[in-house]
Amino acid sequence: MKTLKSFIYLLTLIVSLHMVAQKNDLSNVVILATGGTIAGVGETGAQAGYTSGQVGIETMINSVPGIEKLANLTGKQISNVGSQDMSIKIWLKIANRINELLASEDVDGIVITHGTDTLEETAFFLNLIVKSDKPVVTTGSMRPSTAVSAEGPLNLYNAVAVAAHPDSKGRGTMVVLNDQIHAARAVTKTNTNAVQAFVSPFRGLLGSVIYGQIEFYRKPFGVHSTESIFSVDDISSLPRVDIIYAAADSSADLIDLSIKAGVKGIVIAGVGNGNMNTAMLEACKKAVNQGIVVVRSTRLPSGYVIRNAEVNDDEIGTIASDDLNTAKSRVLLMLCLHETKNAKDIQEIFYNY
Ligand code: ASP
Repeated sequence: MKTLKSFIYLLTLIVSLHMVAQKNDLSNVVILATGGTIAGVGETGAQAGYTSGQVGIETMINSVPGIEKLANLTGKQISNVGSQDMSIKIWLKIANRINELLASEDVDGIVITHGTDTLEETAFFLNLIVKSDKPVVTTGSMRPSTAVSAEGPLNLYNAVAVAAHPDSKGRGTMVVLNDQIHAARAVTKTNTNAVQAFVSPFRGLLGSVIYGQIEFYRKPFGVHSTESIFSVDDISSLPRVDIIYAAADSSADLIDLSIKAGVKGIVIAGVGNGNMNTAMLEACKKAVNQGIVVVRSTRLPSGYVIRNAEVNDDEIGTIASDDLNTAKSRVLLMLCLHETKNAKDIQEIFYNY
């Protein structure tokens, strides 16, 4: 029954995509909507309070004049949540759907609308797991759809323009907001409310997109997409990895609690160059000795965490995150732990992905 349903679904998808493909010479772009502020609604146009994930994909597309001239568009609702509720289950659903769609000759690119809070994590996850060089573009907005000067419609317009453009191929998963094109690995959210919230502080922008006009500056750093060893095919869940934040005189209790909870990996959001106080370091040693993989990242927005700088990683068995931020270190570690627990191999992956 399930097989028959999937077959009928696939057939309908192929037929409808084929019909779209015949319409004209435009690229075929599928928009997968997941929720977020871009689909958020407030009672008035000038208030801070609103609810994420209220507007459906069709309404979002219809609110962008001229978008139909950029590409033949199909919209699919994957979820409708604030991205604070984004989950590994939804990630797997998105990744599987993208792989299915991009395997078809009739799909040229994908846009994912998403909340901005965890956008960088989803984008990086897709960057590591999507098996295609066709463009995958994520976007969102800082202002809800009902706000005065909501910027979601222009972000969606620009995201579709990037997804439809042949130069966008081979650049991994991208993040398009506020006229800028970021690489998933490099980008981070740096402001709670401003429209210019996303920056790529260490590696810089991939390019820019002004009312659909695109200029790329470079290729992204790091192994991604078809070159990546990670595959969604054999994943139905990911191992638990906790993030623990370091500060002056932090207690080590949270590390001990994580160990007790049966965690498989820990990412420390360290001070400075991935440092932590003696108590936390001792707790990390204990974790490593129990087979838990510990990554040292930094709570700072930019810079390398250097192996064996002030912490002797060789002796303790910890891993340095290189320039990957804490949230993305957790994503990479979860995927690594699905494959291996070998600290040396995982360190190599952190240097290269
Ligand atoms: N909390 C919202 C979310 O991430 C914020 C946003 O989208 O800007 O879904």
